[in-house]
Amino acid sequence: MVIHPFSPEGRRTALGRMAQEEFDLLIIGGGITGSGLARDAVLRGLKVALVEKVDFAYGTSSRSSKLVHGGIRYLAYGDVGLVRESARERKVLRSIAPHLVHPLPFLFPVHKGESLTKFRTGFWMFDKLAGATPEEGHRFLGTEALQAKVPALRGPAIGAVEYGEYITDDARLTLENALSAAQHGAPVANHAPLVEFLVRDGKLTGTRVRDEFTGEAFDVRARVVVNATGPWAEETMHLGVTPPPKHLMPSKGVHLLFPADRLPLEGAIALKSPSGREGFAIRRWDFVYVGTSDEAYQGGLDRPTADRAAVLDVLRMAQDCFPSLGLKEGDIVSTWAGLRPLIGEEGRSPRDTSRHDEVWRSPEGLLTIAGGKLTTYRPMADRVMEHVARELGYDLGDNHRTAEVPLPGGNLGGTDFIAFRRDRMAELLQRGISERTAERITWLYGNRVRELLAMGDEDAEWLQPLADGVPAVRGEVRLAIEREMAGSLVDFMDRRSALLIFSDDHGLSAVETVSRLMAGSLGWSEEDRQAQVEEYRTIAAGHNVPT
Ligand code: FAD
Repeated sequence: MVIHPFSPEGRRTALGRMAQEEFDLLIIGGGITGSGLARDAVLRGLKVALVEKVDFAYGTSSRSSKLVHGGIRYLAYGDVGLVRESARERKVLRSIAPHLVHPLPFLFPVHKGESLTKFRTGFWMFDKLAGATPEEGHRFLGTEALQAKVPALRGPAIGAVEYGEYITDDARLTLENALSAAQHGAPVANHAPLVEFLVRDGKLTGTRVRDEFTGEAFDVRARVVVNATGPWAEETMHLGVTPPPKHLMPSKGVHLLFPADRLPLEGAIALKSPSGREGFAIRRWDFVYVGTSDEAYQGGLDRPTADRAAVLDVLRMAQDCFPSLGLKEGDIVSTWAGLRPLIGEEGRSPRDTSRHDEVWRSPEGLLTIAGGKLTTYRPMADRVMEHVARELGYDLGDNHRTAEVPLPGGNLGGTDFIAFRRDRMAELLQRGISERTAERITWLYGNRVRELLAMGDEDAEWLQPLADGVPAVRGEVRLAIEREMAGSLVDFMDRRSALLIFSDDHGLSAVETVSRLMAGSLGWSEEDRQAQVEEYRTIAAGHNVPT
């Protein structure tokens, strides 16, 4: 029997291999940076392993604004290179993950007193840098057209520029990179932190990793180790190597989620309040989220939550930008906060600090990748690989395949996403799945919907909803356990299904069913199951508006 690399057995096998074999490259951290790097390296033929302390996308990679975007804002800082790279990268991600990188028409209102010429020049330059097709390129909308699109937007606006960006599910994009790396031969494991670097005579000789499910620790031998632990990068270096040359300056970003019937919007819109406070609002499914704050942060790095001051600040901006809607604190369904692993630049505020990335080599030989964006994870991996190759004395050549091989779920059998969606939706509706659920499943899983349908062929129960009104089916839990390495209730509710943030009650009405399905497959006792439910309730409460 073939063992799926992301099944519980596959995870145990991966950890067993890590304890026994020697690797060209060991990656610490299963965010988008580490997962993307693992996929890049294994597709080039290197022997790679990856360990993640909690779960794939446990950190910032599930707490972003979920945009695959060109970063037009950075043009204002003259960051032409970053804009070019991000803007072009959108096309690549769209081609390898057409099921997960969805077009998002983005409006930039031009308010009275702002220079239309400045906007036009900026977007003209952006289109050139992006190599935009006529469909992606910008167009100008007059006041009436803008009013028709977003009637609730504050005035006076003299029109808007509309152009094309993309929205994704950051956690699943990360998971799919890690899974793809494993499918190409890399042992990959979550719930397995690096606990110590092993250094002998000033040289990094290995690392000690612990399996959180058994408590056992073991050494992993690798010729090169990359620290891809995002906001934890500096903390990680304190586990046995010389601390970094520059400090990381985490900044916290907070988002608020509203029901779309309280904040009606299609696509996305850049916001600017009369006081000059800037942000955006983005439609996803039945919700619209508004973000974001950007404040220097000094608290703990695990599970940052939205603080009341930031929530009220973002809410005030939304109220000022949509004055007729009467938005209130009580309309907020969820909040989330993420930490940007920015590289400190003296004299610059978090918002003005560049999103560029850097690779540092410690005297012991540890490579640390710091900074960056979700959108640019592939070129970042490329840059890290140059350092890795130098360490290994390996010729990278032109052996770069991450732009060609689709991510899991991204192979749509030669059709475009519109045709694929139409056909899959029809099939799902025919099986009795509600339109809302079918829409969500197709958007998140792409071609892996077939795996859910195959479960439905075995037993129609797998296509039943997790609870009344919850747009997710039971088969998703089975898929998450057997093929996506979900090992805890929160792994499923947050990073596999997105129900923690994108549902009316943080998915709490589904928790009983999900925890029972997980307990059955993962061998949890009733006590274990209740502890998982308790932990989830606490985590879910952290996504409410703090009092
Ligand atoms: P992380 O995702 O934080 O991953 C680091 C991982 O390392 C974690 O999973 C952690 O558990 C693991 N780890 C830590 N210590 C250990 C250890 N000892 N052993 C093993 N594993 C360990 N970018 C965009 O392109 N588009 C956006 O819309 C966007 N919006 C953003 C909005 C906000 C509010 C923020 C904060 C960032 C945003 N970004 C965006 C940037 C982007 O999200 C980040 O650059 C990216 O997710 C960072 O990924 P990472 O893998 O480097 O870090």
